[in-house]
Amino acid sequence: MVSNSLPSLNSAWHTIDPVRSLDLLQSDRKIGLTQQQVDERLQEFGTNELEEAGGRSSWEILIDQFKNVMLLLLIGVALVSGALDLLDLVQGVGKPGDIPFKDTIAILAIVVLNGALGYFQESRAEKALAALKQLSSPRVRILRDGKVHEIDSEQLVPGDVMMVEAGVQLAADGRLLETSNLQIRESALTGEAHAVNKQADLHLPEETSLGDRLNLVYQGTEVVQGRGTVVVTSTGMRTELGKIATMLQAVETEPTPLQQRMDQLSQALVTGALILVGVVVIGGLIAARSFAPIRELLQVSLSMAVAVVPEGLPAVITVTLAIGTQRMVRRNALIRKLPAVETLGSVTTICSDKTGTLTQNKMVVQSFHTASFSPSVTGEGYVPEGKFLIQGQVANPTDYPEVRSLLLACTLCNDSLLQSENGQWTILGDPTEGALLVVAAKAGLEQDQWNSKLPRVSEIPFTSERKRMSVIVEDAAKLLESETGFLSTPYLMFTKGSPELVLERCQKIQYGDRIQGLTDEQRTQILERNNQLAARGLRVLGFAYKPLDNVPPEGSDSAENDLIWLGLVDMLDAPRLEVRDAVARCRTAGIRPVMITGDHQLTAQAIAEHLGISKPGDEVLIGRDLEKMDLPELERHVDRVSIYARVAPEHKLRIVQALQRQGKIVAMTGDGVNDAPALKQADIGIAMGITGTDVSKEASDMVLLDDNFATIVAATEEGRVVYTNIRRFIKYILGSNIGEVLTIAASPLLLSTGGVPLSPLQILWMNLVTDGLPALALAVEPAEPNVMNRPPNRPDENIFSRGLGSYMIRIGIILAVLTIVLMVGAYDYTTQNFGNGLDADRWKTMVFTTLCIAQMGHAIAIRSNSKLTIELDPRTNPYVWGAVIITTILQLLLIYVAPLRSFFGTHYLTLNELAVCFGFSALMFVWIEMEKLFVRWFVNRR
Ligand code: ATP
Repeated sequence: MVSNSLPSLNSAWHTIDPVRSLDLLQSDRKIGLTQQQVDERLQEFGTNELEEAGGRSSWEILIDQFKNVMLLLLIGVALVSGALDLLDLVQGVGKPGDIPFKDTIAILAIVVLNGALGYFQESRAEKALAALKQLSSPRVRILRDGKVHEIDSEQLVPGDVMMVEAGVQLAADGRLLETSNLQIRESALTGEAHAVNKQADLHLPEETSLGDRLNLVYQGTEVVQGRGTVVVTSTGMRTELGKIATMLQAVETEPTPLQQRMDQLSQALVTGALILVGVVVIGGLIAARSFAPIRELLQVSLSMAVAVVPEGLPAVITVTLAIGTQRMVRRNALIRKLPAVETLGSVTTICSDKTGTLTQNKMVVQSFHTASFSPSVTGEGYVPEGKFLIQGQVANPTDYPEVRSLLLACTLCNDSLLQSENGQWTILGDPTEGALLVVAAKAGLEQDQWNSKLPRVSEIPFTSERKRMSVIVEDAAKLLESETGFLSTPYLMFTKGSPELVLERCQKIQYGDRIQGLTDEQRTQILERNNQLAARGLRVLGFAYKPLDNVPPEGSDSAENDLIWLGLVDMLDAPRLEVRDAVARCRTAGIRPVMITGDHQLTAQAIAEHLGISKPGDEVLIGRDLEKMDLPELERHVDRVSIYARVAPEHKLRIVQALQRQGKIVAMTGDGVNDAPALKQADIGIAMGITGTDVSKEASDMVLLDDNFATIVAATEEGRVVYTNIRRFIKYILGSNIGEVLTIAASPLLLSTGGVPLSPLQILWMNLVTDGLPALALAVEPAEPNVMNRPPNRPDENIFSRGLGSYMIRIGIILAVLTIVLMVGAYDYTTQNFGNGLDADRWKTMVFTTLCIAQMGHAIAIRSNSKLTIELDPRTNPYVWGAVIITTILQLLLIYVAPLRSFFGTHYLTLNELAVCFGFSALMFVWIEMEKLFVRWFVNRR
């Protein structure tokens, strides 16, 4: 759609210059759009959204349902059962009152129902996951009505002036207005993995291909380095990415390891069921030496085949994982990839950044250290009010040239903004830089004023590898040396960063209003002071400057040499209060927390010791030393080291790899562009929701909405709860299947005649409804108190390990023994009382009812492995009780409502008969409770 008011939207933007682009889009470089223009354009072009694509289509989800081997087995059973009915019909033998093809129709109906349920569950899960992703939708920094704002990328309109920097994923297409070392990776669009250098001041011929339009930027591409200003030319589906209509953030619904294991299990069970059918039919025929019993044998084997397969299980697992993600998001952990829910339960090592994750990321400058003064500063938070104390006396810092120069450097060498909205002071950008702006404002230095006196003409951006940044400003106002404290030259360069690295590049030092050579003694003193401050847990930055006659060319290596040292600034970033506790929880849960930081070793140590991550004397590995190690050598250290300091993002990747080679399951946090490879490599890559770059979020499995370490621990706990609950209902469902199979197998052996106790339809009813509902309720069982008091689940652990397999078999046998005893008694009782008539079949309904109701007792008792049911608070999981009551009522309806009775092939039971069934069923509950008592006694005795 081309707008009427903006006929220019079809322009070949790469052929026109920035000024013309702004004209065509009726926008302004200094003001941006007005709110009125924004409202009109939102009306006209809609929000900046891509129609979702990339996930599975509805059809694909539906077809996937029928790829399930269990459903295929059921279809097979339906067909064989239909063929038998057809045979009866042709031979005119069926039982009077029987509806022909009833089982076939019912089984097919259940197949369709199951497919439909699976379809709705999966599409809901995909939608929920997509909706969750929206929560972490990128924010963009733009200029509107002359002010800088941060908005949701969906609110962008053509004409918006947008600021981009390293780590940003572009939210719209645009024409570059200004660039500074801007490098963009366009692989999402062009497939080219290398980043391209972008430049605003190029004029390109019309025929230039997409990948060569170096003055344009495209939605979905990533800023790898540098900064730029862009005027948005198209949004939503009109962008280049929109045109090819692939959603970059495609929903990922990979099967989780457990789902894969369950798929393998169902294949094994189906194969087992088919073998069972073969054995029963062929064995039966050989034993009888005739084809006469084929019908009966087929019926037994079909029932057994249906009974073996846990039809309800896949659906319950999907729902449980979905519930897990909901629970996690309530605790501020947003799951982007479903397998993460499960992997979280196995995490053994959490590697966390320091700044913002373990600390509050609310920096407050404490003091300065120039050649001759160390003023301290009062005041809290971002409010620019406070006093400067020099030698214990309140002083005006701008009276001291050294201090004044340092404060000016804080203001000018800065990419952030200090803003006041409704009386609240906030920082737009990096909190470290925010703290510097606050302290400069406390001294009365206005950022805007100084930025226009000394406008920035070039910069060398900050990266975590370089650990410093520089800006070059022009002395536009022709200021006197006395006004700034700096030498008066056409240009000035300011550098700030890690003190050691900045000091290395200095040859001189500012001393009062003079410049002197920097002596070795001074260097040593500065480094000692730096260490003292860092050992108190403070974050320290070094500042320097140099006068320039010309602007150095972009990418020049030597630009940051021969600097003049200005001083140190230290700031406090208090540890988060809740982290100490979370670290202690990690320890009891067998998880090792590790700090990986770009900050100074001593700062890292002080904070890690305060939080309980390390002890005094523990080994600390520095990025520089780590670099010299090969992977096997690093592997020998990773087990001991809990602090990595002064590391660069690429070191993180090697740390993860070394830990993984040691068999650890690693969760790793990250926020920058260059953290992406480590996040991808980690078993759980965790991005920061607030401070994280779009690129890091894209690479992650999980996003912390509050950037908080404690949230990782909370998510780990939820992961363990999900895993425990899945194991719980697997025990419950498969135990029941074993009971059914054994009962059916015993019937021809123990009863002289009378056929199979359970029809395929009744078994399906049990597996899907009477087992399914309580299993769903068991899936929301809350955490047991000891869930974080045991070691992590072994990732390679078989789901049946730790007693699950033996439990299933034991309980299956108990269930079968109870039912078989009842079956033999009921069979004798009905054949004696009702002869061979139709009523003689009521023993079958008694078996059916006992199996169902016994499972209700099982559901109630299995809520806890160790606690008796009377010791559990029923209010902690009322769903189990609800499911048990509903399922019991449904079962009774099958017996006492005539149409249901005839459909399900059940018989009316007298109250006495029903009471016998309930009595036998109750024994199941009693048995499990006795087991718990026995285990308790046994453990106490030992
Ligand atoms: P973490 O890795 O735990 O988040 P960090 O924030 O210190 O710690 P980086 O952001 O990589 O890690 O910073 C590394 C170092 O670079 C810091 O210790 C500091 O010395 C320096 N530094 C940080 N921010 C800036 C900045 N905006 N400008 C200049 N130097 C900076």
